Amino acid sequence: MRKILTLSLSLLFLSTASLFSQEKNPVVEGIINEAYNNSQLEILGHELLDDIGPRLVGTPQMQKAHDWAVSKYRTWGIPAENQQWGEWKAWERGITHIDMVHPRVQTLEGTQLAWNPGTSSKGITAECIILPEIKDSLSFQKWLPTVKGKFVMIAMKQPTGRPDYNWEEWATPESFEKMKKNRDEMTRAYRANIARSGYDARSIIPVLEKAGAAGIVDNYWSNGFGVDKIFGARTKKIPTVDIQLEDYTMLYRMVEHGDKPKIHVVAESKDLGIAPAFNTIAQIKGTEKPEEYVILSAHFDSWDGGTGATDNGTGTLVMMEAMRILKKVYPNPKRTILVGHWGSEEQGLNGSSSFVADHPEIIKNMQVSFNQDNGTGRVVSINGAGFLQSYDYISRWLSDVPDIIRKQIETTFPGSPARGGSDNASFVAAGAPGFSLSSLSWSYWNYTWHTNRDTYDKIVFDDVQSNVILTAILAYMASEDPERASWEQINLPMDPKTGEQQKWPSPRVPERKGGM
Ligand SMILES: [Zn+2]
Repeated sequence: MRKILTLSLSLLFLSTASLFSQEKNPVVEGIINEAYNNSQLEILGHELLDDIGPRLVGTPQMQKAHDWAVSKYRTWGIPAENQQWGEWKAWERGITHIDMVHPRVQTLEGTQLAWNPGTSSKGITAECIILPEIKDSLSFQKWLPTVKGKFVMIAMKQPTGRPDYNWEEWATPESFEKMKKNRDEMTRAYRANIARSGYDARSIIPVLEKAGAAGIVDNYWSNGFGVDKIFGARTKKIPTVDIQLEDYTMLYRMVEHGDKPKIHVVAESKDLGIAPAFNTIAQIKGTEKPEEYVILSAHFDSWDGGTGATDNGTGTLVMMEAMRILKKVYPNPKRTILVGHWGSEEQGLNGSSSFVADHPEIIKNMQVSFNQDNGTGRVVSINGAGFLQSYDYISRWLSDVPDIIRKQIETTFPGSPARGGSDNASFVAAGAPGFSLSSLSWSYWNYTWHTNRDTYDKIVFDDVQSNVILTAILAYMASEDPERASWEQINLPMDPKTGEQQKWPSPRVPERKGGM
């Protein structure tokens, strides 16, 4: 009820506010014109995603991206620097090449997972095995020596490589239900089998490694055609590769049928010791209230199965392009406009929470921050994050956004504070108004988020361009507002689980020395 009431209030407000904006605002017009007629998004996307590539914390590519961003800002006349917040295990991905070499030859699609040791350039050739039917921990220990010198396949064999939406479209309802039931049973049985060893799917890996396995072969299917989630490995001395469902299940069936398949794996990664970890910070200094800050925010790092195009290449492009445009059409803002391209969001918001901890003078004087980090889609929702007066200023700032962009956005006021998920939570935890500009999905969760398919071709530039316009106008309006945005928090509701009143999230302690 409250939501509907506040929504209609804000709509009322918007319609009156837009009456006042009938005469054209030259800054807003300038932003729109520059975004549409001189867009740099495609070239920025190419340089960042094609030329630099994925940006895993601690890798040379992450460092290259930081240096690239600083030099881009400087060419636009915007002072920028890399601020160190910590250090991380330094690792560099090299060539991964996986071939089945017995009983026939086929090149397989797969990749090494992050942070584990590689092979020599000659690679390793070994037989694939699967976990046996485990009766109890004793029988598992008895079986364990057979892993010596073998690649152990540790993921379950998925019964289908077709995503559910495809089944729903084509299968008979009976057959779809049957497949789901079968898959649930297989998943339960697979977990129960591992549990009888005395370990779980994670803790069994170092045990296999210690028993002399040549490597671990995994498959983390992301419920779509040809798509796997790619994270870090749990092995320390042997390589771990993820092989895509299509090839993984083929190998699995071959093992089950006694074909004794052998694969040849080349995975040439390098351990480079320890690397400093940075945030890239750029600012357009305020003229009237330089000590007050409007913060644009997007994490810069990514996982490295693809090139991190939608997580968070697109958020990065939005903020860079918005800053470029603001510098051009609004070079003397009232308040300072600062952009943070955070490091190591993926390991727990480490860059942004370090920034919040290291710069109390900025946070204390923060007007607002806007974060974007859920893909290439146009922004469709803004949540008031539990700030009681957010409906007032957000609605006011939105009133100058072109109708075609604004009418897509559902606002929810007062909303509730973000407790994680992305870097807006780092500001909210400090009590400062941080908002997420939340995008339309474009199949983000299955197809691009942390996957091997998070690549440039998935970017929808029309939507990214509309997010640039939105972000630049919001930054401009927040900078010009005669008032400071209110930090007043709502009274949080009761937690139904504990029966106690919920608490405002508290700042997390960043991990400043990671992966070691
Ligand atoms: Zn992200």
